[in-house]
Amino acid sequence: VTTFAGRSVALFGLGGSGLATALSLKAGGATVIACDDNPDSMARAAAQGIHTADLREADWSTFAALVLAPGVPLTHPVPHWTVERAKAAGLEIIGDIELFCRERETSAPDAPFVAITGTNGKSTTTALIAHILGQAGRDVQMGGNIGTAILSLEPPSAARVHVIELSSFQIDLTPSLKPSVGVLLNITPDHLDRHGAMENYAGIKERLIRGSDLAVIGIDDGFSRAIAERREGASLRIHVGTGAGPAGGLVVRDTGIFDDAGTQVADISGIGSLRGAHNGQNAAVAVAVSRALGVADAAIQAGLRSFPGLPHRMEEVGRRGRVLFVNDSKATNADSTEKALTAFRDIHWILGGKAKEGGIFPLVPFFDRIAHAYLIGAASDAFAATLQGAVPFTRCETLDVATRAAAEGAAAAGAPEPVVLLSPACASYDQFRSFEDRGNQFRELVRALP
Ligand code: ADP
Repeated sequence: VTTFAGRSVALFGLGGSGLATALSLKAGGATVIACDDNPDSMARAAAQGIHTADLREADWSTFAALVLAPGVPLTHPVPHWTVERAKAAGLEIIGDIELFCRERETSAPDAPFVAITGTNGKSTTTALIAHILGQAGRDVQMGGNIGTAILSLEPPSAARVHVIELSSFQIDLTPSLKPSVGVLLNITPDHLDRHGAMENYAGIKERLIRGSDLAVIGIDDGFSRAIAERREGASLRIHVGTGAGPAGGLVVRDTGIFDDAGTQVADISGIGSLRGAHNGQNAAVAVAVSRALGVADAAIQAGLRSFPGLPHRMEEVGRRGRVLFVNDSKATNADSTEKALTAFRDIHWILGGKAKEGGIFPLVPFFDRIAHAYLIGAASDAFAATLQGAVPFTRCETLDVATRAAAEGAAAAGAPEPVVLLSPACASYDQFRSFEDRGNQFRELVRALP
């Protein structure tokens, strides 16, 4: 990106996308002084020719901006100090999405750019939109908060669609955000540690809508509905919900997606990768965006049908006889696990790990769907107390013991299609490196079953 050609910028955070940002700025003629509190990241960046230094010792009067990598924990002392220093110097504080937006504005202002945010469903919807467009023959670049860093993608052009997932944090660092299509899926309490108050969090998401040429808004929660009703910014809008909305929207009823004349425009029944009521919203939003970009309904339906889904989100990882195995390792809280429990019956449920506040109490109403529970990890005592007397359970300690026990239990059960479901309702850090690591191990364990 050439935005800072001939000028000097400070950059904090040298993980994957931070490093891509530093390289892109440097290639565009900027002088980059980069820092990270992880010495390995510093060394890796230095090996690629990036000038690394302790920003506390830098001359801040020379910088034009502070660029922050996404996911930098601002509560940690060094990034916190860096941000305070930049504010004191009157510098703008921006992220890689902002650099992309400025580059697009100068080089290809008509390049189609779809930006997707929301508390839940961002990755699924982003991947689904990219898949439908790709299957319809479009040149698609997908990235941002999912997969590839935005500045590692092909540059914007009128013949190419960028489909970009954005977290609130990334929106916050992107003052020039003006996508051709802005998507807001939903707003529910989450991540409040970073944004303090719900209103502030909703306000950041609303900024995306205000800057968009066309806004696609899910209206099934109060905050998103309020944003839709304020009608600020974007003149073109498509509202998507399970109830009636204003004219020109899409309505989700069970697995059908209808226009407001009542005509069915798409159907997701029997699509394994889009199981569960929450995926109705994701699919309907993807339909709205694809239609707006000129994809025909038949091609959209074909794209929905061939969507492979994302790993670790209700991912089918195998069958043994009648038994289906589902990896929902991404479900790190009760809210997410609820989505999986409502999508199945006769569930042999593997759960546990490092518990979140509230544990599994919110899941009690769904206990009638569970044939047997298999407990792993640190939360076992607490979860056993909740399950006691309501659901039969086995303490398994580890995922491999639990997987084998659940496979045997499900095979011995009388149900026509029992499901072994890993949906832990917990963080993974007590026993795994990440939820991906946990899900990958489960997939391997299932593969190794007799
Ligand atoms: P994100 O990228 O926003 O974290 P994902 O697409 O990765 O979202 O989905 C993560 C989890 O969030 C899913 O496993 C599911 O439990 C839940 N979820 C997905 N889509 C929705 C939605 N539209 N509304 C509510 N919850 C959802």
